[in-house]
Amino acid sequence: PFEVLIVGGGPAGAAAAVYTARKGFRTGIAAERFGGQLMDTLGIENLPGTTYTEGPKLTDNLRAQVGEYDIDVMDLAQAKSLRPAAEKGGMHALELTNGAVLKGRALILATGARWRNLGVPGEAEYRNKGVAYCPHCDGPLFKGKRIAVIGGGNSGVEAAIDLANIVGHVTLIEFDTKLRADEVLQKKLRSMDNVEIIVNGQTTEITGDGKRVNGLVLKDRESGEDRTIELEGVFIQIGLVPNTEWLKDTGIELSKYGEIVVDEHGSTSLPGIYAAGDATIIKDKQIVVAMGTGATAGLGAFDYLIRNEPV
Ligand code: FAD
Repeated sequence: PFEVLIVGGGPAGAAAAVYTARKGFRTGIAAERFGGQLMDTLGIENLPGTTYTEGPKLTDNLRAQVGEYDIDVMDLAQAKSLRPAAEKGGMHALELTNGAVLKGRALILATGARWRNLGVPGEAEYRNKGVAYCPHCDGPLFKGKRIAVIGGGNSGVEAAIDLANIVGHVTLIEFDTKLRADEVLQKKLRSMDNVEIIVNGQTTEITGDGKRVNGLVLKDRESGEDRTIELEGVFIQIGLVPNTEWLKDTGIELSKYGEIVVDEHGSTSLPGIYAAGDATIIKDKQIVVAMGTGATAGLGAFDYLIRNEPV
């Protein structure tokens, strides 16, 4: 059994592990894929103190740092269900899809999130080659270029406003008959002169020249007609889904979007269970924030363990 068992090996889980191991607690990480979203990320330019790195390289660094301590890293370990401790100081039990059961006196949930895909031809092929999901991360790569933002909810409209300040031209495409973003955001977007807003638009394909994106095919849902838009980038903003489906019947409070509710100590609604990173209600889904909240959750678990005797 572990004193601290961490579920997830992205930046949040890795940061938490370093903190709890440095407090002398026997720490384990169970992760489906160590590195998490970093393994899908090319250039990273917004991690303070690091001018430029790449996701797989940052993953190697995290793995090496975790390896400096007595931390048991279980890769390819997917959690299926969780049985919380019956009383404070007791053991939580984590069941994996391979049938194994891992136990921990404190748990840190850091299972991250995944971008919702559009599911059209070209999207996977041109991922990181013009197809992007994170405006904070990749916006500057499209300086002066033509891009589309797909999705007219708050995140799509926020992304369009943000990107319109950087890129040459933005086409915002909403599937529905109207934008769903807050009125104040819509007003701001409409006031920008390098933005075109299209509603009732269904993106059916992202096209490219084999190397990079060069356009998209848009179906007008009213007339049924197709047209193509030439552009260099497509930002897909149709939702970020937390990897928390497996926590639904555990008693851990989730937001209406399925995010784990945490307080300023990283505590969830159950004693001895902490959470960090993209899987939580923490607003900004970024590496530096995942690492920071991972540190907080690690220190939260430390506080819990020194205050509650094992039972
Ligand atoms: P994740 O990185 O999602 O890690 C989650 C971990 O949990 C993984 O190990 C996963 O395998 C594991 N897991 C999930 N479910 C289970 C389960 N049931 N059982 C066991 N393990 C499980 N942010 C930036 O700051 N700068 C950037 O430039 C940047 N670029 C990005 C580019 C792309 C393409 C993407 C997708 C994201 C980018 N981000 C960027 C966002 C950043 O990657 C995330 O905010 C960050 O990785 C979140 O860390 P996390 O540890 O919370 O979750």
